[in-house]
Amino acid sequence: MSLVDWIFPKHCVGCKKWGNYFCDNCQANILQSELVCPICERNSIGGRTHPLCQKKFALDGLWSLGVYKNPLRRAIQELKYRLVRDINQTLVDIMVQYFAKHTPDFFDEIKKDPTSWVMVPVPLHPKRERWRGFNQSAVLAKEMAFKMGLRYEECLKRIRFTKPQVGLKGKARYQNTKDAFALFENCKLKSEHSNILLIDDVWTTGSTLKECAYVLKKNLPAGRQVWAITLAR
Ligand SMILES: [Zn+2]
Ligand SMILES: [Zn+2]
Repeated sequence: MSLVDWIFPKHCVGCKKWGNYFCDNCQANILQSELVCPICERNSIGGRTHPLCQKKFALDGLWSLGVYKNPLRRAIQELKYRLVRDINQTLVDIMVQYFAKHTPDFFDEIKKDPTSWVMVPVPLHPKRERWRGFNQSAVLAKEMAFKMGLRYEECLKRIRFTKPQVGLKGKARYQNTKDAFALFENCKLKSEHSNILLIDDVWTTGSTLKECAYVLKKNLPAGRQVWAITLAR
């Protein structure tokens, strides 16, 4: 036990039991979300976009750890508002474990050729990031890239201040995120063909992740896969 753990002991975000951010029991209580196609949101093996749903600038798949309900929901809130330190590490550990266990084909495809996959976080607007102090999606993506031995790159930026998606309905959400993102000038992906794992904390209607995928596919050389990876859906 480190000195920090001794002064600020960890307790489970689910049941408050001392020891870890997620006790084994609460970890087992994370409801696994059914994997669905990101376009029609109907079941799909591994979360891959159905061949008939594929569009030129759309996501190629969606993978989420679990359903946005406690204890996962509480853990995401703690991550977002940084109520406890290092919870990102615990969450990413669980995520990578489940990824390997429940979608071994996709996991192995990435692990077989790690240089051809890059982790890209959904950006926050600089104003919001300054206010909050950090971007939770970047924290997750960095940690996940490290654990999976992949490259991490911030190549998207928000060019428009958007309202929080919470409280907005379908069409308003779409309009809220439309044209809100752009590629950084010096994005390395412009000159290579890596596939992209786009990371965000939660998939609600998917407007944000769909818009990010659109900007990436529209502005980068064709032929790459862009997947959305989230903690919850
Ligand atoms: Zn617990
Ligand atoms: Zn579909």
